[in-house]
Amino acid sequence: MSRPQPQPAPRPIPASSQFAAGFRLDWHFSTLRQGEVGLLCLLGSEIDSARANWRGELVPFFHAEGGWYALLAADMDALPRAYPLVVHAQLASGAATFARRVRIVLGNFIRENFTLPSAAAGLVDASIESAELAAITDVSTYSGKLPLWDAAGFELPLSSALTSPFGSFRALNAGIQTRHSGWDQQAATGTPVRAMAAGRVAFAGQLKIRGNYVLIDHGLGLYTGCAHFSALQVQAGQTVGAGQIIGLSGNTGRSSAPHLHWEVRLRGRWVNGLALLELWLPQPQSRL
Ligand SMILES: [Zn+2]
Repeated sequence: MSRPQPQPAPRPIPASSQFAAGFRLDWHFSTLRQGEVGLLCLLGSEIDSARANWRGELVPFFHAEGGWYALLAADMDALPRAYPLVVHAQLASGAATFARRVRIVLGNFIRENFTLPSAAAGLVDASIESAELAAITDVSTYSGKLPLWDAAGFELPLSSALTSPFGSFRALNAGIQTRHSGWDQQAATGTPVRAMAAGRVAFAGQLKIRGNYVLIDHGLGLYTGCAHFSALQVQAGQTVGAGQIIGLSGNTGRSSAPHLHWEVRLRGRWVNGLALLELWLPQPQSRL
């Protein structure tokens, strides 16, 4: 698979806009593929707070460069159809409401078969997968209400080729079926791996499937994780800059050969990291 080259795009022209009570809601997408992240921007003065209600989730807006923003996550296994979305803005005096249906379309995920060597075959187990997901959920509930990334935005953790895509349906050792929560990149053991954006280390330690793993909190419930490290070079709680080396790649955990697995989680959902890298994101305002 050839390597796409995500670029930080210039501030895009919205796909569409809605107007209500002197406020404008910019939609930076028209539909979302399964696993994609969508950006909404609310513009107007005197906004105290705003939230979107979509697919049973209350999504808070955050204040950043020139407006109020929300990141929507289309689950990779969401049924492809249109879902009603309501945005509610609380103003100094009164309120404004916007409503529209947002369509989720198929992600066109591929199927992959993997044979794991005997040392890792014991980790092909649905209960180990669910325990690991619970452990990741436990350490990803403390995200703050402000973005932690900086002007550098988000970048790939390595510059090597991508080898296995997000969302693929995987059969492991002709046994359990699982979904690929992130992307894989070529990486010989010992390759330095970079933080995908500025943030705070939520977890740096050992997991059964992901091996030596680093999870970075970028605020707003947005996390990036890198797996199978041979050595970790950060500790939980520390802040990291965009591009800072966080560890050396390896082959620990449920892995059939040295490589880097990286993944993006938004408010408890795995999302397509490349889609996030291609998304224009506002720069956070300096914190008070
Ligand atoms: Zn992977």
